[in-house]
Amino acid sequence: MKINFIDLQAQYKKYEKEINSEVLEVFASAQFIGGEKLNSLEKNLAVYTGAKHAIGCSSGTDALLLALMALDIGVGDEVITTPFTFIATAEVVALLGAKSVFVDIDEESYNIDPSKIEAAITKKTKAIIPVSLYGQCADMEAINSIAKKYSITVIEDACQSFGATYRGKKSCNLSTISCTSFFPSKPLGAYGDGGAIFTDNDELSAKMRMLLNHGQNERYKHKYIGINGRLDAVQAAILNVKLKHFEEEVRLRDEIGSRYSDLLEDADVITPKIADGNTSVYAQYSIRVKDREAMVEKLSKLGVPTAVHYPLPLHMQEAFKDLGYSVGDFPISEIVSKEIMSLPMSAYLSEAEQDFVVQAIKG
Ligand SMILES: *Cc1c(COP(=O)(O)O)cnc(C)c1O
Repeated sequence: MKINFIDLQAQYKKYEKEINSEVLEVFASAQFIGGEKLNSLEKNLAVYTGAKHAIGCSSGTDALLLALMALDIGVGDEVITTPFTFIATAEVVALLGAKSVFVDIDEESYNIDPSKIEAAITKKTKAIIPVSLYGQCADMEAINSIAKKYSITVIEDACQSFGATYRGKKSCNLSTISCTSFFPSKPLGAYGDGGAIFTDNDELSAKMRMLLNHGQNERYKHKYIGINGRLDAVQAAILNVKLKHFEEEVRLRDEIGSRYSDLLEDADVITPKIADGNTSVYAQYSIRVKDREAMVEKLSKLGVPTAVHYPLPLHMQEAFKDLGYSVGDFPISEIVSKEIMSLPMSAYLSEAEQDFVVQAIKG
């Protein structure tokens, strides 16, 4: 059996007619940047999440960058985040000349441990970026209440959690600013790069809209130094089609994720723990195994692709050596990064494929 890690072709086949017709409309209109497709996507994203403003942009990375720029974060400022994430979360902090201050993760959720945040706050702390990893939201209420006490802004890195819910509310509507990614393999994926920023704050929204278009408030009048961070109309058109079917995909992902956990209950692995009141979109279905190398090799021989998110925590990356951290500083991130591995996951993973993966793990 040949199993895809993420089956994007099956998804395309399902929506092929709709996607083709939407994309051809963009080609015929020659409205490639901005326009109706983007406006309509932004409206639909706001309705879906419940956030007042949704702003399409060029990627999840740029969404995070624009959020920090809108808050005037730069040299001399500190931003608290987790070392157990994709590099983009902390990369944008460094690009602006600010400093990432890492806080270890919780061993059950793999998200930032709120009980360790206060000890990391200094006079220089301007923002906290909790990452809603693998599709489950961080403990946003606990984080928001700490942030409020110290007048710090919270930016949810929701690049993996679009569609997830936290205590009945949607990810991307849980903090002052939220950022998501439409990278093709994310739960809601475009056919290229893309992202979005969410906020209820009118001023921040207006500022981020300008920043992503070279800081323009009107054509060739520049209020800020910005970037070219726009989402193009072709991606917006594709995302609009996929968003229509997204709730159904979220349901399927939830079913498949829960089924993995049931089937793996008696296996010698640690399955994801979804906190009461949360739903996960399983951007990754990640398990922990004692001997990862052996497991990856065993599965690979049977034709089961796997991936590791992420093998080296950020405090141990060469790119962040100037932050001055050492091995041992974040023990939970370090142990999880040695044991974690992700299994094939998508809304179109069949039961037969899933049974095959599970048998391969147990065999
Ligand atoms: C994918 C991802 C990003 C970056 O998104 P891009 O669209 O690839 O730039 C940032 N943070 C996390 C946690 C991600 O998974």
